[in-house]
Amino acid sequence: MINVLVELARCEEERQDTRHRLAGDRARLEFLAELGQECAEDAVEAEGEAARSRASLRNQETRIAELETALVRKRAQLAAAGEAKQRQALEREIAALQERIDRDFEEYCRLSGETEHRRDDADRARTDRDDRRLQEDREREAILARRGLLEAAAAEIEQEIARLQDLLPDQIRRHLERLWSKGLQAVVTVSGQACGGCFALLTPQQAIAADQGKDLVRCPSCSRFVVHPPWQ
Ligand SMILES: [Zn+2]
Repeated sequence: MINVLVELARCEEERQDTRHRLAGDRARLEFLAELGQECAEDAVEAEGEAARSRASLRNQETRIAELETALVRKRAQLAAAGEAKQRQALEREIAALQERIDRDFEEYCRLSGETEHRRDDADRARTDRDDRRLQEDREREAILARRGLLEAAAAEIEQEIARLQDLLPDQIRRHLERLWSKGLQAVVTVSGQACGGCFALLTPQQAIAADQGKDLVRCPSCSRFVVHPPWQ
């Protein structure tokens, strides 16, 4: 019976490890999805900024073209004007227009540089997003392939645990089930003089009994079965 429990402890250890790895993979998949989402959002945002920048640049172009049209008109009026007073007024208007065009052109140059930056940012964000997607796809594939193996292993362990459980007396089986229903490992190995489950110290007699496989030992603190490691 103790040999069966030793074997159960090993299976439970494996079951724990398999569950842990499956949970780790699930968390990694979630993290990858979140990261991918973040990169996609960044790319959309950068593309939006680039589009806004391009629109401002086009508006500025239109504004300057309108001012230049007005300037041409005023110059034509000046050429046709006879009176000195009218000519002076037109000259002032032309000077003011010219000044505005110069200022708007400066702003145009600034916007042009900004548009270029934003376009580069958007390109970079798109590349990041695409790289991330590729990497994510590769990693997800590897994880899914591994998950198939882990799930098969988990099913095998469950079968083995059920087989071992059937070899045990009812009373012990019921106790195992009670512990399992609480999500606990039911059979643990002795660790020095302590229970390998809750690390409470066993009595010296219990530690020796567990170590030598002489008696069925239950941890006084957590009530798990405590056995020696399988290699002993
Ligand atoms: Zn314990």
